[in-house]
Order: sequence, then C-alpha cells, then structure tokens
Amino acid sequence: MASTTRGTFGAVPDGSPIIEVDGVTKSFPSADGTTLHVLSEVSLTLRKGEIVALLGKSGSGKSTLLRSMAGLIAPTTGQVRYRGTRLNGANPGVGMVFQSFALMPWLTVQANVELGLQARGIAAKERRRRALDAIDVIGLDGFESAYPRELSGGMRQRVGFARALVLRPDALLMDEPFSALDVLTAENLRNEVMSLWAQPDFPTSCVCIVTHNIEEAVLMADRVLVLGANPGHIKAEVPIHLPRPRDRRSPAFESAVD
Ligand code: ADP
Ligand code: MG
Repeated sequence: MASTTRGTFGAVPDGSPIIEVDGVTKSFPSADGTTLHVLSEVSLTLRKGEIVALLGKSGSGKSTLLRSMAGLIAPTTGQVRYRGTRLNGANPGVGMVFQSFALMPWLTVQANVELGLQARGIAAKERRRRALDAIDVIGLDGFESAYPRELSGGMRQRVGFARALVLRPDALLMDEPFSALDVLTAENLRNEVMSLWAQPDFPTSCVCIVTHNIEEAVLMADRVLVLGANPGHIKAEVPIHLPRPRDRRSPAFESAVD
C-alpha cells in the first residue's frame, strides 16, 4: 500500500487531490443593478500533505474562494470537487476557522465546540467526549464553562480552532485566523497549530490558510498562491523551498535559520 506521511484521514498517498477548484467564477449582483465579478476562472488543487497559503490584498476574493472550497457558497460557473465528487452544498471534509472567530456568544466554550458535531448528528455523550478532548488539545482546559466574552482574543480563537478540529476535518481551511490577534499571541497559536499537524495521528490531510501577511504565508506554507484583484484570479504560484512546515520548528531548522 502507498505510504501516507500526513493526515490519517483516508488511505491515499501524499499528493492525492483532496479539494479541486476547477474554473471557478463567482459574481454577485450589486445594489446598483450591475454585476460584481469577484472571482474569474480560478483553478487550484489542495493535495494531501500540503499547506497552501492564499495571499492577496483585501477585496481580492480570498474569503469568497475559501468559502467556495467549503461549499458555503456556490460558484457562478465552474465547480469544486472534494475527493473527486462535485460539491452540491457544504463540503463534508472541511473544518473552518474565521478571522472574527464567529463564536456563538450565548453558548459556553464547550457548547460552541459541540455545535458542528450536533449538526452531524453525533450523540450527546460522544459529542462531549470529543469536545473535551479538542478543548484539552488546544489548551483551553478549565474553560469549558466560560462564555466567549470572558475570554481574550487569543483564547477565543482557540475555541475557533477547537470547533474546527473537533470535526477531525480532512481539510482545514483558515480565513486570516491570526489577523485579529496581537503579534505574540498570533505567533504562539500559529506554532501550536503547526505542531499539532506534526502529530502522527492528526487526521487532517491538507491545510489552506488565507492571509495578507507574506511572512506568515512563507512561514507556514509549502506553496503560496497569490491572488490578484478585480476580478480575483491566481496571479502567481510560489513554491516555498524550506524544510516542510511540520519540520520547521525542529532544532535543525532553528539552527539553520539563526
Ligand atoms: P477578501 O477576503 O480577499 O478581502 P472577499 O472574498 O471577502 O475578499 O470579497 C471580494 C469582493 O467580493 C469584495 O468586493 C466584497 O465586497 C465582495 N463580496 C463578497 N461577498 C459578497 C456577497 N455575499 N455579496 C456581494 N458582494 C460580496
Ligand atoms: Mg477576507
């Protein structure tokens, strides 16, 4: 059998396509009766084992592209496939993390983390077990009963990550997940997320991070796709020739970049 080095979700070798965006165009009707062209003929493939960064200025269509991959919005033309099957609604293989956290303020940390499991029809006892596990993994132990308003921004985004990771997603899609955090908090959380992915039993096959931060893109990704605006299109693709992201915090790498 082919070897798998990343992601325990499904036995396919590294390099297999997980999410394919195929000629996607997206337009929205504007208030003045004209059409706003947000994405034009975008094609890309997220492959098993890789972290792809989508880098672009504000308004270039990054969030629209990520939401299309998650199946939260339907392309005007073109299609998105998940493991070879054309999406028609929410992508069942995706966990998402949002810039503004998107937590339910009236729910506790644990209830926020359990929400997605509830939507997938998982029984209460199992939901609780998995939520507590995700809360522990992301460093929120002891905050299960807290409400989002009682937490710092960094802690709120940890809840955002727990809510995505508890799904054991095949693909983790993150929309500027660290942009609302101060530099040190962002760096800590980024490093923790990267170390999680280095765990041998981590299920997630591929990661896509939307960012407008070049340094973050280069630090995290195997490949950077640069989005141009008006309408959004892939302007450049830049491979990152650094040790694979999962190895970038190893002592060897730290001495190599000193
Ligand atoms: P980015 O994430 O790169 O900042 P977005 O994908 O959020 O870009 O938005 C790209 C453009 O599409 C913006 O001009 C935005 O106003 C517009 N847009 C996004 N979503 C909608 C929508 N649901 N309806 C109308 N216009 C939208
Ligand atoms: Mg955006």
